[in-house]
Amino acid sequence: MAPGFSKILIVGAGPAGQLLGLLLAKENIDVTILDQADKLDENPRATHYAPPAMRVLNFAGVGDKMREKGFAPGNVAWRKLDGTFIAGMDNESQKDSLERMIALPLDQLGRVLYDHSKKFLSIKYLFNHKVTSIGHNEKTAWVNVEITGSGKETRFEADYIVGCDGANSIIRRSLFGDWEFPGRTWDEQIVATNVYYPFEKFHYSDSNFIIDPVHWHMAAKITKDGMWRVTYGDLPGLTRDELIARQPEKFKTILPGHPDPSGYKLVNISPYKVHQRLAKSLRVGRFLLAADAAHLCNPFGGLGLTGGIVDVGGLYQCLKGIYTKVADESILDIYSDIRRKRYLEMVDTISSANLRRMFTVPPDEVLEKDNFLKLCKQSETDKELAQKMAEGAHALSYDFTQHYKTA
Ligand SMILES: Cc1cc2nc3c(=O)[nH]c(=O)nc-3n(C[C@H](O)[C@H](O)[C@H](O)COP(=O)(O)OP(=O)(O)OC[C@H]3O[C@@H](n4cnc5c(N)ncnc54)[C@H](O)[C@@H]3O)c2cc1C
Repeated sequence: MAPGFSKILIVGAGPAGQLLGLLLAKENIDVTILDQADKLDENPRATHYAPPAMRVLNFAGVGDKMREKGFAPGNVAWRKLDGTFIAGMDNESQKDSLERMIALPLDQLGRVLYDHSKKFLSIKYLFNHKVTSIGHNEKTAWVNVEITGSGKETRFEADYIVGCDGANSIIRRSLFGDWEFPGRTWDEQIVATNVYYPFEKFHYSDSNFIIDPVHWHMAAKITKDGMWRVTYGDLPGLTRDELIARQPEKFKTILPGHPDPSGYKLVNISPYKVHQRLAKSLRVGRFLLAADAAHLCNPFGGLGLTGGIVDVGGLYQCLKGIYTKVADESILDIYSDIRRKRYLEMVDTISSANLRRMFTVPPDEVLEKDNFLKLCKQSETDKELAQKMAEGAHALSYDFTQHYKTA
């Protein structure tokens, strides 16, 4: 085999690229992961992995480690700014399920995936490798790579190249053009923070969506030791520094108990804009896209990375089918069609509704006007409905082995 050649080349050692690499390596399919950074990303970012993502993560063999390190959220509530409960859902029906949602900051998931992948010889990570351009023909695909700090450039070839290189994907931009990522950017400005603060003292649930036309926000417990993610909306058009400067006043207004900075420990703060976008196709010849490189959504409901992980589980089934000769390449078009459809029907629709629900209808009227909250209210006493709602998330999954020739 030529140097720099692997069956599958993955661009991006984020959670999606790492997980795909691990799944393929377990099948002894030779895979190389390139990342422009010098190490795994240490920003906490995504935190919640819903049941369809846990199904894939369990299959990859990292579920036990995640349950050991992470935390299984119980109930979720929608509240008014003064903390008054509007409606809620509990996870009671899922409490013994291995597919139950787990919260674990993304940097810790990255470390779990990396450590687990060391057990397999057919996976190779190369950091400081920045992809600058791409090419492909009928037989092979390649990327041109700059090796950071060395001034050297080189080329890597593969049967298939998967862009798991995040929102600003060079693979997607090279395939479709820099500005071709159909969808929209929200006007709303989001600020994500990680903070230690005793929300339990104020009878908060594990995850809380606060409905308010101005001070809408989410507060969710994300670690066993009591760190919370508070993500709030702020004024559009401010600079990063201006948004950060407003945080103490914002917390005083929105957190229960109205604390001064001495009353909590702020660990991270990152203002960011949110988008709902989907690539035109998740396959062009020998190039494939998954997770943030393929689609983006706002973080309310944790559907972004959950959707990305489910993509990866499906793409693994398709590539495995090709290498074990039970599927031909047309399965990759099915991958693209189904994952795009699931994004449009579920991820985009539900995550957009989750965000709008927090500020469009006055909190006193929301229960009467919002069908989803009405269902939540009903599920508080109807256990069968509660179970159905909890299991509904699996509609995001799709079993691509049904397209194997032997199926
Ligand atoms: C502040 C914040 C909070 C978030 N909270 C949530 C949440 O609560 N729930 C949720 O589901 N999602 C959340 N997200 C989104 C979530 O983090 C992403 O969906 C997830 O990280 C996507 O994973 P990925 O592997 O597709 O891409 P990424 O994690 O972005 O990884 C992409 C990798 O590709 C590498 N790369 C990029 N370009 C190149 C190149 N040219 N050559 C080589 N390597 C390259 C990068 O270095 C990076 O390591 C949040 C995001 C942010 C920023």
